[in-house]
Amino acid sequence: MAVVLKEFQVSTKGFTDVIDVTDNVRRALSQSKVQNGLVTVSVAGSTAAVSTIEFESGVVQDLRDAIERMAPVDIAYKHDLRWHDGNGFAHVRAAMIGSSFSVPLHSGDLVLGTWQQIVLLDFDNRPRSRRVFVQIIGE
Ligand code: ZN
Repeated sequence: MAVVLKEFQVSTKGFTDVIDVTDNVRRALSQSKVQNGLVTVSVAGSTAAVSTIEFESGVVQDLRDAIERMAPVDIAYKHDLRWHDGNGFAHVRAAMIGSSFSVPLHSGDLVLGTWQQIVLLDFDNRPRSRRVFVQIIGE
């Protein structure tokens, strides 16, 4: 049994920037000798999230629109009253989507659908550099 932690960095524009990180995850995997097990992709920070989607511009925009309806930018957030950093919407969005995504690892590759990618979502109200972790557990 092996437990391996890899890391990569992603520069984002914020404001619900959605970035395909599937190749980054596969690169991290190829640096480990683990063939079968479980892979968890996790972002450090409370205004970003990791999820999965078909990475094509139509549905990515549909997701961004749905998130805007769930936690609009232009309403009052108590977080902003407290900290005045103006990103209350980003914290709420990140909590709703979640900060990690787990996927089985089989014969050295991620068990994903043909049209299924792993995405990093950055909700903050400014560009960020994000640390994304790939935890590989298996043999
Ligand atoms: Zn904040």
